[in-house]
Amino acid sequence: MITLENALNQGKAVLKGKGIADWDIDAWYLFSYYFQINRTQFILHSQKDITEEQLSLYLELIQKRSEHIPLQYITKEQEFMGLKFHVTEDVLIPRLDTEILVEEVLKVSAGKDILDICTGSGCIIISLSKLGKVKSAAGVDISPKALEIARENASKLKADVTFIESDMYTQVKDRYDIIVSNPPYIPTQDIAVLMREVKDHEPILALDGSTDGLYFYKIIIHDINLYLKPDGYVFFEIGYNQAEAVSELLREAGITDINLKKDLAGLNRVISGRFKKTQEPFT
Ligand code: GLN
Repeated sequence: MITLENALNQGKAVLKGKGIADWDIDAWYLFSYYFQINRTQFILHSQKDITEEQLSLYLELIQKRSEHIPLQYITKEQEFMGLKFHVTEDVLIPRLDTEILVEEVLKVSAGKDILDICTGSGCIIISLSKLGKVKSAAGVDISPKALEIARENASKLKADVTFIESDMYTQVKDRYDIIVSNPPYIPTQDIAVLMREVKDHEPILALDGSTDGLYFYKIIIHDINLYLKPDGYVFFEIGYNQAEAVSELLREAGITDINLKKDLAGLNRVISGRFKKTQEPFT
């Protein structure tokens, strides 16, 4: 006979043996996901018998985790802003830090037309559309596979978002009150030293910000006068050491009211600014 407790202990032992840092938490998380059980139910039913088949299916999930596949790509979900997002290896896993970006935009989002560039799973723009009383919401991404996930998320969460397949601004036709982006911002040479979970499983397209990590900020900022309405806002998530460089790029483009917001680790994580110039015609 195998009990629920036996299964959990086996899961923990496998992950510990394979050197997974959070073996204890991760074995529990996959256990609670597979058996659909919470802590209290487990305490009450830990001696309940399970079948061989259940054990082997649970251990299959454990096996994936032991190969350094992130939990979220095993369970295919990640919560963000209290909403459940479907994720696959075609999109970046939404991060807790990115909620800070969304919280900042929420302060001014009411009644606004918003564009999210490099939308990935759609977590940013879908959250804004659900929680931000926005007038309209659009998300662009170069990856058709990512857009498929984003569209699925919007439809499951009943969010009214338009998704456009576009390499940055190339297919964008309108002007917006707010442009928001969490672009790929890791310098290419830093990718090799990231955790295996990230560098081997998350899409490189969603991570790589080219040599200095600033490639996508430069593109967005360069033409921002064509896509932001006068008095419009721009919001970016940035890497821990990019505040100065991105502030400078924003200032050079005539963006004022530059503001930084720190993450829970005390690092600059979100930068915002305002475009005070009068509208310039499309070229
Ligand atoms: N906007 C998505 C997110 O923040 C994807 C970001 C990306 O792919 N760099 O999760």
